[in-house]
Amino acid sequence: MAGLATSAPDERRAEARESLAQTAFDLLVIGGGVIGAATAAHAARAGLAVALVDAGDFGSGTSSASSKLVHGGLRYLRLGDVRLVREAHHERRTLAGRVAPHLVHRLPFLLPLYRGGPFRPAFVQSGIILYSTLALSRLNWLVQPARASELVPPLRDEGLRSCALYADAWTNDARLCLENVLAASEAGATVLNRAKVVSLRLSGGAVTGAEVTVDGSSVDVTARVIVNAAGPWVDAVRRLEDPRAGTSVRLSKGAHVLVPGGDDWRAALTIAQDDVRVTFAVPWYGLLLLGTTDSDYESDPAAVDVDDADVAQILAEASRALPPSLLEPGAVRASFAGLRVLPLGDGSTVNARRETVFSLGPGGMLSVAGGKLTTYRRIALDALERVRGPLGLRQVDRRPFPLPAAVGVAPPFALELDPDVEAHLRHLYGSRAAAVVERAAEDPSLLERLHPDGPDIAAQAAFAATNEWAGTADDVLRRRTTVTLRGLADADAVERVERLLETARAV
Ligand code: FAD
Repeated sequence: MAGLATSAPDERRAEARESLAQTAFDLLVIGGGVIGAATAAHAARAGLAVALVDAGDFGSGTSSASSKLVHGGLRYLRLGDVRLVREAHHERRTLAGRVAPHLVHRLPFLLPLYRGGPFRPAFVQSGIILYSTLALSRLNWLVQPARASELVPPLRDEGLRSCALYADAWTNDARLCLENVLAASEAGATVLNRAKVVSLRLSGGAVTGAEVTVDGSSVDVTARVIVNAAGPWVDAVRRLEDPRAGTSVRLSKGAHVLVPGGDDWRAALTIAQDDVRVTFAVPWYGLLLLGTTDSDYESDPAAVDVDDADVAQILAEASRALPPSLLEPGAVRASFAGLRVLPLGDGSTVNARRETVFSLGPGGMLSVAGGKLTTYRRIALDALERVRGPLGLRQVDRRPFPLPAAVGVAPPFALELDPDVEAHLRHLYGSRAAAVVERAAEDPSLLERLHPDGPDIAAQAAFAATNEWAGTADDVLRRRTTVTLRGLADADAVERVERLLETARAV
């Protein structure tokens, strides 16, 4: 398939490492979350020599720990941020229509209004009308309980007066991030995961490069411009440039859990917790994604985790709209936590604006953090705009382009697949789905499922190793496929993937 460069993973790493050491880059991007990856992709498409490095796996920070919504953000309207909502809706349409239609799917949302709840129906109705107008979408804004329970069968109906209805979209955040890394790579960027920037080089007061640790040894990277897109680690990287740099952001932890249910849901639920904060119950790959929490976080970003109190809070908050039978602690199949990066400010993180924080260091490094997955493209383009001068770019091309798996028409599969596997591959890999299973023509074992209860198959693990920089079982099970979040990453699945990675390395 055109443009798909398959190579042995170790060889590919060695080549990237060599390129990092030998090239005089125009731009080095630190952090392969969705913001860094998109910045690198746009810069490489503009013809610049670009390097993108991530200390861990691509997307292993916040960009795989979101609520997986591509949305305007109803709560931002409540906070009076009409501009952010309008921009986010515009981006939602751009992502679903052109950039990643295989990964971003429209979904109706129901906001149940219970007697004694925080919102008055008339107030909600005017909010939803404004939200839907900004979204350019038309739904029945208020629906009666009977219609609501057709959309969400287990919806609690005691005290239910009516439900507001609006539309947003859901996605797979880790794959959306990865596709931006692929876009960067295909446009000529040198990209490498497990490549941590440990110090910055300054010449005459300006940053001119970085020391990157790759597989236990150090590589000196030279770059005219450096963008720090290290998410929750943004201040740690700023201090590599200026050890006296203060704090530029605050962090808030958000946890999620996945429980069974959701197969027969035709809408997601937005559950009002107070007059600003909402939580979600989103049908996601047949499960229900519940969350999220929002609490100040001051410890090491790498240590963020879900604890029992988070799980108890998420289940209790979901129980406002769902029956206890769905919400037993024992039902939790998987959980994850991430860190929002928020502008500094007083008061609760719940009320903090989800603004992007840009800062320019004394040596010229641009730091960019915060904002939303939904608006990642805009944030990346704004970052590039801010370093346009030093990069020598006449202008930044802001036109959306389709991500690699959204290019071209999807060819048919050459092999017969189970319908659920076929649909799943089409969703995750778009126009490249057939390429993922190509090698199964010679090795039918690649068609075996990674776990009998899920649609991910062995060919995906092999493809992740040769085409998607996956180096560990966790990379494959958690971020390249959906096995971990379905709660199916048992010892057998881990062992199977480790063997597949080993085989890919040996080729
Ligand atoms: P990250 O994804 O965190 O990437 C930063 C990367 O930098 C990491 O991969 C890290 O390994 C790397 N790094 C750090 N230090 C170094 C170093 N020294 N060298 C090299 N690499 C380094 N947005 C939405 O639009 N919809 C949602 O539903 C939504 N839900 C959310 C729910 C929660 C709980 C949270 C926390 C956020 C949510 N967001 C949502 C926001 C969205 O997830 C983030 O805005 C986005 O993922 C941020 O991406 P990023 O690239 O800035 O950061």
